[in-house]
Amino acid sequence: MSISQDDAIGGAKRVLVTGGAGFIGSHLCDTLIELGYRVTVVDDLRTGFASNISATSSRLTFNRLTLGDEAHRHAIETHFEQSDFVFHLASDIGVSFVHENPISTFESIVSSGSMVVNLCRKYQVPLLFTSSSEVYGANPIRPTDEDTPLVDSKARRFSYASAKIAVEKMVFDLYREGTTDSWVARFFNVAGPRQRPSAGVIASFAYALAIGNDPSIHGDGSQTRCFLHVTDAVNALLQIAGNAELAGRAVNIGNEETIRIRDLAFQMCHQAGKGIVEEVSYEAAFGRDFAPVHNRQPSTRLLRESTNWRPTRNLSEIIEDCTNYARESCLDQAGRERFA
Ligand code: NAD
Repeated sequence: MSISQDDAIGGAKRVLVTGGAGFIGSHLCDTLIELGYRVTVVDDLRTGFASNISATSSRLTFNRLTLGDEAHRHAIETHFEQSDFVFHLASDIGVSFVHENPISTFESIVSSGSMVVNLCRKYQVPLLFTSSSEVYGANPIRPTDEDTPLVDSKARRFSYASAKIAVEKMVFDLYREGTTDSWVARFFNVAGPRQRPSAGVIASFAYALAIGNDPSIHGDGSQTRCFLHVTDAVNALLQIAGNAELAGRAVNIGNEETIRIRDLAFQMCHQAGKGIVEEVSYEAAFGRDFAPVHNRQPSTRLLRESTNWRPTRNLSEIIEDCTNYARESCLDQAGRERFA
């Protein structure tokens, strides 16, 4: 099955999205519904929100279940059996969270990934797994392409990357076995409405400014990142899913334009007409044994040459969307508590 408008005729195809109540997953669900698919979400709302999910669509069903939890296996299995395609996005995420919870993060990503791969294998359902640029660690090669050596570090933050690498391996083996097609997408920084401030730097600056605080940067802010609008991230997933040339391979998804974090913070303060950029040392933010990653920049050549995909939103549009969303969310107490 490929994911396209043509497939969606009649809305007959059913797509399972794990992590569909989260930031990227909920935007993916919105787009799939617009394309005419029937969508099943499996998410335990540990970091996602039921309010992210389209409540009005009769083509979406939500199931609060934990992937990797054997007690939920039976209920989860039914959804795999009934699906034509699986997008596996459910994951613990966030540098600070992972640094504080390295063992549970590793366990959770590997146990949920193992359950997903084995159920896709059992029911021969094509699978797209979302991995991360963290798998490249602090590798200085830029832009980073998919053949760049992967991280081999004992630093606590890289338990997330090690777990993603382990699941990638299972997904590649599933493909090589010939049982079913599978894809691995490695996101670099994605930003946009619905992102939690603890999970994204633009969201964190936008929320700080929305509630009248100053945005804080880690270190001197000379580190660089590239930001991709969530709409472009979802479109990339849809172009990769079902693409025969990309099956069984890892594919970077990101924006290639870099910005220094300090410049980003100043730009957002300037646009907001308020705020002073506050410097917080890595040690104060994360404790003593934190492993910073100075620069991140993807090469998206593989994706661009294998599909029609190009990013369509620039950084100013990303900032504007995140700022508006943060302002609207902070209008009431529920919104403020949700992002506290
Ligand atoms: P998110 O935290 O907003 O969404 C993750 C969702 O998965 C949440 O709704 C959470 O409740 C759910 N979840 C987590 N573990 C679960 C489990 N075991 N069972 C059921 N539900 C579970 O994160 P996001 O930013 O939307 O990330 C989506 C995917 O993209 C993740 O796989 C993440 O690793 C990857 N990724 C994201 C970024 C980014 O910039 N946002 C960068 C790299 C990789």
